[in-house]
Amino acid sequence: MLVSQKHEIIALSDSSDDEAQKKHTKRQKTAEDIQVPRFEKCETCSKTYDITLNNDEACQTHEGWVEIDAEYFPDDDDIQYRPDSVNPETDWRREEWPEGFIWQCCEEPANGTPCRIQRHIPKKC
Ligand SMILES: [Zn+2]
Ligand SMILES: [Zn+2]
Repeated sequence: MLVSQKHEIIALSDSSDDEAQKKHTKRQKTAEDIQVPRFEKCETCSKTYDITLNNDEACQTHEGWVEIDAEYFPDDDDIQYRPDSVNPETDWRREEWPEGFIWQCCEEPANGTPCRIQRHIPKKC
């Protein structure tokens, strides 16, 4: 019922052939848009994102790197005596105790608010 009403409205507004031609072109373009891949990889955060959902706050990363706050782990021998054996980027402790990992760019903990917020930028191949 709703669909047939809509058709009637379009038919009524088609006052000339030119107008109908424009509408036809527009419909074709929409069909092309759907064929464009919806996913791109972001140059900034390396995440795959949906291009139709990209916006000025979609990409949230840090400009710097993460370092371990050794004072947060006073009883951890690896961190206290063998800091080179711990990679802050991949360390399992980061999941468990994000507060013990500090972003050098903004001094936020690993789970804190990202300091660089922007649009995703498609990676060039
Ligand atoms: Zn930061
Ligand atoms: Zn991104």
